[in-house]
Amino acid sequence: MADLDYEGFWKETLIQLRNDLGEEEFSGWFSDMKYLRAGNNSIVVGIPSAFHRDKVKSRYQNVINSKLKELSGQEITIELEIVGKSAKKPSPAAQSTAKSDDSSAAATEKAPKVKEKRGKHPNMRDDYTFDRYVIGENNGFAANAAIAISKNPGKAYNPFLIYGGVGLGKTHLMQAIGNSTHENSENKVIYTTSENFLNEYVQAIQDGKMNLFKNKFRYADVLLIDDIQFFQDKERIQEELFHTFNALLDSKKQLVFTCDRPVTELKKFSERIISRFGLGLIVDLQPPKYEERCAILKAAAEARKADIPNEVIDLVSKNISSNVRDLISALNTVIAYTELMGKPITLEIAQQRLKNIFNAPRQANLSMDNIIRVAAEYFGLTPNDLKGKKRSQNIVFARQLAMYIGREMTDYSTTEIGQDFGGKDHTTVMHSIEKIKGKLLTDPTLESTIESLKRSIKEFSAKY
Ligand code: ADP
Ligand code: MG
Repeated sequence: MADLDYEGFWKETLIQLRNDLGEEEFSGWFSDMKYLRAGNNSIVVGIPSAFHRDKVKSRYQNVINSKLKELSGQEITIELEIVGKSAKKPSPAAQSTAKSDDSSAAATEKAPKVKEKRGKHPNMRDDYTFDRYVIGENNGFAANAAIAISKNPGKAYNPFLIYGGVGLGKTHLMQAIGNSTHENSENKVIYTTSENFLNEYVQAIQDGKMNLFKNKFRYADVLLIDDIQFFQDKERIQEELFHTFNALLDSKKQLVFTCDRPVTELKKFSERIISRFGLGLIVDLQPPKYEERCAILKAAAEARKADIPNEVIDLVSKNISSNVRDLISALNTVIAYTELMGKPITLEIAQQRLKNIFNAPRQANLSMDNIIRVAAEYFGLTPNDLKGKKRSQNIVFARQLAMYIGREMTDYSTTEIGQDFGGKDHTTVMHSIEKIKGKLLTDPTLESTIESLKRSIKEFSAKY
């Protein structure tokens, strides 16, 4: 066998690091490094200053070593040797950490490039900031906690879990934490959807590169994972999540998650993960009330520099109460129309344009069948469970909720709904609806469950 190609390992490590870290962060730390020689089970690399050396050691050494090990199949580690370009006086950091390191005289005090103003984060929306997040009674607690976290990641509330129905601003709030941290600190922020996390995991297994996967997420100072309900039922990825979770919590890195329902309603979800959520802070987002909806619309109109009369704001706020996404999208419909037609926005135009949207929930393709299918799936049951006569607690609750939602979303009478639920009497349907109404008064989480279910039903119905 030929000698191990140390320089090749180093080159490959750099390629992988560039991939993992992104160009900006990578060039801030690694572009000035030079391969020097093979040491004794080590690779000696030149680095411009003691400052660089200490930073790279604390942030990247473990990751580099594990990449080297993976590439070579041996315990090869990295040694950093200072080879300053210009002779400047050593930085205080260099003096205090380097023992008899005479070459530290060459250390520069120049801050690395990452300290300069960072550009946009590569995979978050740059308009999802706190500035653009309208805070009201419905989201005040969550928003203030998020702001506190962004000022002190890893210290304030960890892990942080935001839950609430679709379109209520979970992703916006989560990315606001990420954007603010990314902009105001050197911290590394990683944002991923749960789906993407799973895809990367599967890919890593296929390519035999699990170490890369692990390292990538464990680099993070702030890890944001969106929509964790996606992990329901998927045991292996939950296991991986658990390990990532622990590794980051142990090193006091900030974790933020979102979920479209209370964690207690996640089915087939690791108890160990759920109990760790309990160690941090769990907050929920409620649908905005009328005043909050007006405030959001005004802010959105301003951001688009659109002149919207108050009566139009009022019209939209009164008619769309489901969530913020629908609210803003209704506004955009009106703005787009008037922009294209070159007309100012008036109440008449808004009424005309939005007629269909306002009436949308009672659309014909919202069949009871679809409602039953989606509700059953949500609770991990079958449609026949809901149509049948079984009286176990979870089935009864799911059945009652599906009937309630059926009545809310369609024009079907209680008699018709009873028919669709396996020929039940209309009094049974009425009784179910009353039960849910009662629960809504005492269970603060039920409303968001219902909203999220309705949303899924609409999405499902739009597809089939
Ligand atoms: P979720 O992740 O909960 O489904 P998003 O974060 O995607 O919801 O929000 C949906 C839309 O509503 C986005 O365009 C977002 O910017 C907007 N939005 C949500 N809440 C607010 C808020 N409080 N202020 C301003 N815009 C908001
Ligand atoms: Mg989202």
